[in-house]
Amino acid sequence: MRESNISNKILKWYDNNKRKLPWRKKTSTKNREYFTLVSEFMLQQTQVKTVIPYFENFIKNFPNLKSLATSSEQKVLKYWEGLGYYSRARNLKKTAIKLLKEFEGKLPKDIEKLKSLPGIGEYTSRSILAIAHNKPYIPMDGNVERILKRIFLLKTNDEISKDNLYKKKSFFGFSKRSSDYAQAIMEIGALICKPSLPSCTSCPLTDNCKAFKRKDFLIRSKNKLNKTKYFEASIYSYKNKFLLVKNKKFNFLKNLVIFPMIEINQKKFQYSVYKKINVKMSNMNMKIIINKNNKIKKIKDSLLLDKSNINKYILPSFTKKIFNSISQ
Ligand code: SF4
Repeated sequence: MRESNISNKILKWYDNNKRKLPWRKKTSTKNREYFTLVSEFMLQQTQVKTVIPYFENFIKNFPNLKSLATSSEQKVLKYWEGLGYYSRARNLKKTAIKLLKEFEGKLPKDIEKLKSLPGIGEYTSRSILAIAHNKPYIPMDGNVERILKRIFLLKTNDEISKDNLYKKKSFFGFSKRSSDYAQAIMEIGALICKPSLPSCTSCPLTDNCKAFKRKDFLIRSKNKLNKTKYFEASIYSYKNKFLLVKNKKFNFLKNLVIFPMIEINQKKFQYSVYKKINVKMSNMNMKIIINKNNKIKKIKDSLLLDKSNINKYILPSFTKKIFNSISQ
């Protein structure tokens, strides 16, 4: 595989500018696979700078696949607490168990086998193949999309469609250093070709970039519909004890501990005299009225939580937000 002019420029930039990230530490093949697996799960919905301390703490407590596979789910969730999207932690543990049982503790090098593991889809499997196994894949994340949109000045719906972006990805070509190359392109997107103010003077791709030539850096993206939904949360408390339930009802925050809630209509929300809070989820704006009751009610699958012990429990930040709002 011959290195192209583009890949040479990108790799040269990467060698001089890459960030020191804890999962990039030079280490044994086994550790590299494990570090890639954990970091890729954490990075699925979360930014690099948020992930770093969680990753370091997680690796301290689960230094290898075996320690992760044999720890209790509660312990794994405890070290994930605050990162959100807890199904990632559950799936990571399930994947660790499956890797030990069926793949001799190694990450498969076949994309279909990788995708058969819990929590690993198209994007993560390609990232793992590129980063851990040095295979010639360039996973398409938001950073890579943004670079392509600017290089080719893609603006219309057809131009920014997934199909077209995949075609345009051939611009990058390939490199023998596939692992570094995939990370280098994503790194340029994260550090240089930033969403609002790209630092073109530091970019190795200025000669190839239409956005740079036209000084038009505006990025078109498909509009995501963020629906607004309305809820009533019932706070049952007595002598500093609060009643919480395991969420079996709603598709978001599934199986996590929340205050008892029902969905209501906009009118009920508008005319309610109770305290109101807003919570932004990834695909929904939640408007919640807080209905306080100074008594404890019996509810199936509920638990009583002492206010002073909140930090000992694994609670989604959603529930903590409601806690904070009623404590004010
Ligand atoms: S030259 Fe500027 S706009 Fe073009 S890819 Fe580089 S940073 Fe992005």
